[in-house]
Amino acid sequence: MAQEDLFKKIIAHCKEYGFIFQSSEIYDGLSAVYDYGQNGVELKNNIKKYWWDSMVLLHENIVGLDSAIFMHPRTWEASGHVGAFSDPLIDNKDSNKRYRADVLIEEYLQKIEEKIEKDVAKGIKKFGDSFDEEQFRATNPNVLRNKTKIEEVHGRFVKALEDDNLAELKQIIEDCEIACPVSGTKNWTDVRQFNLMFDTKLGSLADDASKIYLRPETAQGIFVNYLNVQKTGRMKIPFGIAQIGKAFRNEIVARQFIFRMREFEQMEMQFFVRPGEEIKWFEHWKEFRMNWHKNLGLAEDKYRFHKHDKLAHYANAAFDIEFQFPFGFKELEGIHSRTDFDLSQHQEFSGKKIQYFDPETNKSYVPYVVETSIGLDRMFLTIMSAAYTEEELTKEDGSKDQRIVLKIPAALAPIKLAVLPLLKKDGLPDKALEIINNLKFEFNCQYEEKDSIGKRYRRQDAIGTPYCVTVDHQTLEDNTVTLRYRDTMNQERIPIEKLNELISESVSIKKLLKKL
Ligand code: ATP
Repeated sequence: MAQEDLFKKIIAHCKEYGFIFQSSEIYDGLSAVYDYGQNGVELKNNIKKYWWDSMVLLHENIVGLDSAIFMHPRTWEASGHVGAFSDPLIDNKDSNKRYRADVLIEEYLQKIEEKIEKDVAKGIKKFGDSFDEEQFRATNPNVLRNKTKIEEVHGRFVKALEDDNLAELKQIIEDCEIACPVSGTKNWTDVRQFNLMFDTKLGSLADDASKIYLRPETAQGIFVNYLNVQKTGRMKIPFGIAQIGKAFRNEIVARQFIFRMREFEQMEMQFFVRPGEEIKWFEHWKEFRMNWHKNLGLAEDKYRFHKHDKLAHYANAAFDIEFQFPFGFKELEGIHSRTDFDLSQHQEFSGKKIQYFDPETNKSYVPYVVETSIGLDRMFLTIMSAAYTEEELTKEDGSKDQRIVLKIPAALAPIKLAVLPLLKKDGLPDKALEIINNLKFEFNCQYEEKDSIGKRYRRQDAIGTPYCVTVDHQTLEDNTVTLRYRDTMNQERIPIEKLNELISESVSIKKLLKKL
């Protein structure tokens, strides 16, 4: 299936099955803002729990925080967001569409990369086992020309970003003859910087002094509380503070569903370390976070590390974990070594001493910080993209059928067990409800009595429910039910009293955490 079609199908599926709705849809929607429906909110809560427990529960030296969205405006001066939290934007004069100049160039480079891979794939197809890929990459004129082009453009691009050279960014777009995907023309405006923070007014005064911002990241709430938590929790370095919360960015380009939203949620952990030990911890967290992703057992080959081309001025190491979404490899999470930049800035701007006395070295210092920062919504999209599966089935009579199944890891699935009475009479519904009433304290159950059993199985497959049980007349006689497994579609007869033991373990987050 073409990846573009797959992405459209995932978006449609999210809506049809109550995962994600456009915000204020009855008023034609609000761009790049989304609501999570009855199944979406369950999946989202499960992702949060998996992340939170892997940080706070598993690490004796990591504690949680829930700081406010509104913060003193000086926070954002200290952090650098007022001055420099901006993206370079460019407009196409014919379509009036706005783009991020850096993204246009990155996508151009990605297309050339794809051309190289296509040439290689052609060679493999044509020559099979006798194809020498390494030699082909080193000698084929097309591949070499494209490689040189990438190196040349990439070099100019990185330098332009480092120098904040907006004119050069435009020049690269012109030299590469990048056209607007909507109008098809190369009629561009100059590149300008655009600040991504939303502002509003606090209280009734309308003057500038009362201007405050919706936080564009959750991290600063952690930094300004560093002293509070360290002192009241008597935390010893190294230690971490974890937080999950909303962030807001007035994104210029917001066309990729929940990949880029204007209101979204972040899960961030700031780890405070002794100066000089930050790279060791950076490597540690890089590996831990990649394991956290792969531990889900979902499309392991779709994750990769990406080293930042341009380091932020305060960082001394930065990697992204990228996931292969239907629209290509993109950032899912960032792991950054932020030095003592944030705490030092807050120390300077607030005039309060933010230092740690290290009893082991007998020295005071501003701690260094290693951060892990992941978008909850992007993680949601990752799971949806990896779990969405269309399967061809052969029925008993030999005819073909198709099912759509979300192979969400059982621990994250919105509903763990669906209980289905075969008929709506003869006491079967009561028996089904009795089973639910016993199990609902353990995990999320759903009762469904409408339509044939086959149709009900398909609906549960489509929302990723790992287990279904069917209650029939035999159940009333011997207290057994048919248990059906989502992925294999196998069925077995088991006693009702065995259900809890069989399902609880496999659907618990604990099982995932133990594997970390
Ligand atoms: P991008 O380059 O894609 O704009 P970023 O580098 O600005 O992302 P960070 O500031 O490092 O992102 O934010 C940390 C994480 O927050 C990202 O890895 C991503 O998962 C998530 N995130 C950032 N912006 C958005 C957004 N607009 N919508 C959804 N998630 C986001």
